[in-house]
Formats: sequence, structure tokens, C-alpha cells
Amino acid sequence: MLFPTTIAGSLPKPEWLAEPNMLWAPWKAKGDELARAKRDATMLALKVQEDAGIDLLTEGEQARQHFVHGFLEKVDGIDFAHKVEMGIRKDRYKAMVPQVVAALKLKGRVHADEARVARAHTTRKLKFTLPGPMTIIDTLADSHYGDRVKMAFAFAELLNEEARALEADGINMIQFDEPAFNVFMDEVPVWGIKALERAAQGLKCETAVHICYGYGIKANVDWKETLGSEWRQYEEIFPAIAESSIQQVAIECRNSKVPLDLLALLKGKKIQAGVIDVASDTVETAEDVVKVIEAVSKFVPLSDIVATTNCGMAPMRRDIAEAKLMALGAGAKLARQKLG
Ligand code: ZN
Repeated sequence: MLFPTTIAGSLPKPEWLAEPNMLWAPWKAKGDELARAKRDATMLALKVQEDAGIDLLTEGEQARQHFVHGFLEKVDGIDFAHKVEMGIRKDRYKAMVPQVVAALKLKGRVHADEARVARAHTTRKLKFTLPGPMTIIDTLADSHYGDRVKMAFAFAELLNEEARALEADGINMIQFDEPAFNVFMDEVPVWGIKALERAAQGLKCETAVHICYGYGIKANVDWKETLGSEWRQYEEIFPAIAESSIQQVAIECRNSKVPLDLLALLKGKKIQAGVIDVASDTVETAEDVVKVIEAVSKFVPLSDIVATTNCGMAPMRRDIAEAKLMALGAGAKLARQKLG
């Protein structure tokens, strides 16, 4: 089947689980009640995707407060109590970040609960997202390794441990999110890709990397204004990704200033093409989706195109996110009729 559909990863959380319409939303419950609420929200996230005709589902990242810190919470060797200020993404934002203070090690499973709930409640394929090593180390201060690359590889080993366990839970695709890849372009071919391959080592399930220009939050929108009329950052990193063992690349295409001809640099990879804008509340029509797929198909064989959202939907309004999911499903279906 042409143009199977998926989503970048996150969906908005119900207002009874966490404060709506924001990143880092505080949880509304504690203890067992919170665990139950996360499970219920995970099942709902699957249901809205199934009803929209999405083929490769995620658990909507309902059980994590943030896509990086959801992982870090389960890692030993990090001091969350003494945060320090750090400029992240090359100073795009200042943030108070935890410090790595000892050798890193997993405390146990990170995402077992939500992976097992998801696997038990859908027969469709499941994708699970994890933060990539380069993005993780750009969100933490190092007071132990004394070498960013060494710290990145230490995280890559932990990611690999969890990714293999997720595969054993029945997850069909592991996607690493590496928004840092279009910030530290010169480092991607040198070690970024190798760290990612280390994180994916030995996996038999499908593998993907998501690179993007971020959620539709103000700091990102302001940064995008500085990037000029054409976003050519990917030109420097796509050749290295093309040569890597990672099988799919998820990137934003709808309302994006990335010249789509750059996709030709990813020959041999499946492209998860973002056909839904997450930085706008305007709900796409099925025809809008077809237009993006058609534009992508000038540079990517039809059989290598997967339709997805530009990025995570976590900070969006729930009703808008659900309407956008319906547009994604309907648009891919229409594209099969028109272009298939
Ligand atoms: Zn993204």
C-alpha cells in the first residue's frame, strides 16, 4: 500500500492527565492514580489514531512530561536537584538543566508500561520514539565525562538497551528524535550519526530518525525567522544519514522552507514526510495533504513515501490535533486514489 501514515510521536494530553496546551505540563495526579491516568490516556491516543486511519501508531508520549526528560528520569548518574543554566541548541534558549555527575546507567526499564499497554490494545504496528544521543547531551550539563562525545556514546549505549527491550515488547519501529542535528551540522558526519547507529545497534525492527525545526513554540518560530528564505541545513547532514544504517528519515515538509529537492540526497531511505503543520492551528484539507505528497514524489519514489506530521503535537489543542489526524488519514487515502 502506498503512503502509509504515522505521526511524529506526541499527541496532546487530556486535561485530566496534565495541564493542557503547554510543554512540561505538570501532572494532575500522583502515585497509582497517575499511573492509571497515563494508561487510560495511552489507550485513548491509540483509539484516535486508529479512527483517523493511521497505520503506524505511537503511544502519543502520554506517559512522559518531555521527550528528553522522560528518558533521563530513569538514568542513574544525573543530579536533578542541582540544576545549572545552559544555553541549548546553540543558545536558542536558556534552560536550567540537570548535571551528569557520575557514570551513566539505567535504573531499569524506561518505557515498559506504556509500550506494553500500547501493544495490548492495538493490532496495528507501533512506533516508539526515543531522544537521540546528540539531542540528549545538548539538554544536560557535563560534570563527569569531560568530553561531550564520550557522554553521547554513554547515552547511546543506554538508549540501545531500552530500544532492544522495546523491540522485545513488540514495538515495530524505533524512531530517534534528533532536533540537534540541524543545529550542530558539522558534528553530525563526524560523530552524531555514529552515536545514533550505536543506539540502534542490533535492532531487527525498523529504525528511523526524526530531525526537525521544532514545535510551534515562540523560541522556535523566532529562530526560524533568522534562517532565511530557504532552509538548507539538511544539505550538510543528509549525505551522512544516507550512508548510515538508519532506514527511515522523518522531516517536516508542509509549510516548510526546506527545499524538497534536498530529499534526493537521501536516496535509498524511506521518507516520513511531514504533511501536517503542527505550528499552525489551521486544519489541513485532504487536498492539502495530497499536494505535499505530490511535491515530495518529485524527489522520492512513491513506494518510499510515508505520510506523517511535521513534529510532535504535544503543545496543541486536543480538538485541533484530532482534526489534523483525520486530515492526515483522509489525505493519504485520497493520495492513493490520485497518485497510485
Ligand atoms: Zn520534531
